Amino acid sequence: MQLKTIKLSGFKSFAEKTKIELQPGATIIVGPNGSGKSNITEAVRWVLGEQSAKTLRGQKMGDVIFSGAQQKAAMNLAQVSLLFDNSDHYLDVPYSELEVTRKLFRNGESWYGINGQECRLKDITSLFMDSGIGADGFSIISQGNVEEVFNSTAESRRSIVETVAGIFQYKQQKKTAETKIVKVEDNLSRVNDISFELS
Ligand code: ATP
Repeated sequence: MQLKTIKLSGFKSFAEKTKIELQPGATIIVGPNGSGKSNITEAVRWVLGEQSAKTLRGQKMGDVIFSGAQQKAAMNLAQVSLLFDNSDHYLDVPYSELEVTRKLFRNGESWYGINGQECRLKDITSLFMDSGIGADGFSIISQGNVEEVFNSTAESRRSIVETVAGIFQYKQQKKTAETKIVKVEDNLSRVNDISFELS
């Protein structure tokens, strides 16, 4: 799988429609301080399902919408699309190309889509969760992340490895199943009590 294209419009400093084409291999983005390099990685993280405005260096999610600059009025919509080449079917979907889009309107309304079809945020997060490239998948290492990993506890370091290995989602499913088992056992015990009283 390869990230082929990043399309942005109204996202942070990218007011105009911008298309970034990535070739196979390493891509290095260079530019002066404040020119928007980090905004590009944040755009990718945002589409992959990032829900924390703080992680995107904002106070609230609306801060990702272009807020205006000299001779350019603020915009009402931030929109980013990522186009993946999925011809190796690394992502478990029947598409060999996958375009994932996220939009946020100034009124707080959101829109998520896969190949032009509206979907839920959950569809996007679960699509990427087991691939290890989701918003929390450490496929994006921000400034300060490396120190954070070194300074974290053994337990949270383990959870990082589990997330990257794609087993985090199975742990989540196991937790949900265990909660259901406890509920069923409770219900069974109530049924036994009632049947004992009736007999
Ligand atoms: P550095 O090399 O210093 O890390 P950078 O190239 O990574 O810089 P970014 O941090 O990506 O730059 O971009 C910062 C710029 O983005 C700032 O000029 C900031 O004003 C602008 N910016 C951030 N959010 C918005 C927004 N919502 N609307 C308009 N501009 C924004």
